[in-house]
Amino acid sequence: MSFRALLTDRDAEGKVTSAVEVLDDARLPEGNVTVDIDWAGLNYKDGLCLTGGGGLVRTYPHVGGIDFAGTVRDSDDIRYKAGDMVVLTGWRVGETHWGGYSERARVNADWLVPLPQGLTTRDAMIVGTAGLTAMLAIDRLEAAGLNPEAGEVLVTGAAGGVGTIATSMLAKLGYQVAALSGRPQHAEALKTLGAAGVIDRAEFLAQPDKPLESARWAAVIDNVGGKVLGKVLKQVKYGGSVASIGNAGGIELSTNVLPFILRGISLFGIDSVMQPYSTRVAAWARISGTFDLGAYAGLVREVGLEELPEAAREILAGEVKGRVLAKVG
Ligand code: NDP
Repeated sequence: MSFRALLTDRDAEGKVTSAVEVLDDARLPEGNVTVDIDWAGLNYKDGLCLTGGGGLVRTYPHVGGIDFAGTVRDSDDIRYKAGDMVVLTGWRVGETHWGGYSERARVNADWLVPLPQGLTTRDAMIVGTAGLTAMLAIDRLEAAGLNPEAGEVLVTGAAGGVGTIATSMLAKLGYQVAALSGRPQHAEALKTLGAAGVIDRAEFLAQPDKPLESARWAAVIDNVGGKVLGKVLKQVKYGGSVASIGNAGGIELSTNVLPFILRGISLFGIDSVMQPYSTRVAAWARISGTFDLGAYAGLVREVGLEELPEAAREILAGEVKGRVLAKVG
């Protein structure tokens, strides 16, 4: 039996390239569940894996794709049987284990969750790692006391995958959302998703930097890190909190302790990769009831396996709007 996959390889000079190849089932990695994949997502991390960035992929040839959804083909695990619809995100699949840019994957049953009720495999990949992480961030902020009466919530990197889904879900949950974006051309799309206002990133960063700035945000979902996160922390209202998800703008964090000790703010890190099964299932269930897939339709772009290397370049350059889906099966 054979299947098509986007195989990523590195040559003797260290150049990383990807091409679609037909592979034999014998080349699938170890695992106890084999899945026929319908759809995979494209995330910032996939951009890194397809281009050799970030040192995430250590062994070549490799198959990228950190999330996928499809149908179980065969299973040696009691929890899954042939025909079951499943979703996989995280667990370093697509980084250290062959991932979703393939018609077939073999994985550990512990990494799978059943396809949430009410979602198709395509819907699940519109959500993907991006939407799961946005939901985990909202859950964390609410566990710290956030509610719609607390005030405005800022989403940074708003036009990207996590940012657009976070904006949409927060608005649906009744929050007033401000979207910070470096791409003013997407302001209308963000407002359609439910953002009450859109802030231009360049103007935001150009404002004078002070140890404590006017308190504006009840909470922040930050996908950017770097200078944006450093400045945002100084604008969080008393007792508010920030969920740090990403580093699209840099891994550094330069700030000071005054917002923490004078305003009692909190900074939470959000990780979607190693979350236990029960947390994932609960987050997916809340997503099914919260995320308005119809309203998001215009922010979804479909590509084939062959088009993923170019899409990877685009996501790393901050050029992707919303979610890119790879149609695999
Ligand atoms: P996207 O590329 O879709 O979105 C990132 C957004 O960040 C861009 O759309 C852009 O938003 C903004 N951005 C890009 N470059 C810069 C820059 N140089 N300076 C400031 N802002 C920039 O990626 P994802 O939404 O998939 O992921 C967002 C981040 O979250 C990534 O860093 C990713 O690795 C991380 N992540 C972390 C997870 C976790 O488990 N912690 C899970 C998923 C993602 P705009 O155009 O609006 O300015």
